[in-house]
Amino acid sequence: MRCELCGKEADRLQRVIIEGTEMMVCSSCAAYGKPAPTPKAKKPVSISPSKKEYYTRDIFEKMNKELVPDWGTKIMKAREQKGLSRQQLGAMIGEKTNTVAKIENQELRPSDEKAKKIEKVLGIVLFQDVKPAIIKKKKVRGLTIGDLLKKDE
Ligand SMILES: [Zn+2]
Repeated sequence: MRCELCGKEADRLQRVIIEGTEMMVCSSCAAYGKPAPTPKAKKPVSISPSKKEYYTRDIFEKMNKELVPDWGTKIMKAREQKGLSRQQLGAMIGEKTNTVAKIENQELRPSDEKAKKIEKVLGIVLFQDVKPAIIKKKKVRGLTIGDLLKKDE
């Protein structure tokens, strides 16, 4: 077993959080971090940059679309333009009149599936791209592992 921080061989490693990263370290390096609460990883924790990049991309892919902020108004306007009553729209998308009213008042958020149906029926766009800036991954700033080791000298 090798300490992930200093690289020394050690009989026993401790799982600690250092700068937000879970690491397996020797007892002398354990002082740099906080003990990790639950050992969840079965695989050894990797801190390779490529893994981190992949993780970031993964988040982008999952969260790149969201409902426009004024979806309720947008739906109502488009419905009125088409000369549809709430009841008629409700029938088209399989919702009660009451539910349509709630969606238009933004008291109720339609499911993504329902929203897509409304988009089709009314010919509008309810989803927008999430700006990458909003979900930009927080970078670990400050001390690097090298700094930590230098500091000790
Ligand atoms: Zn160490």
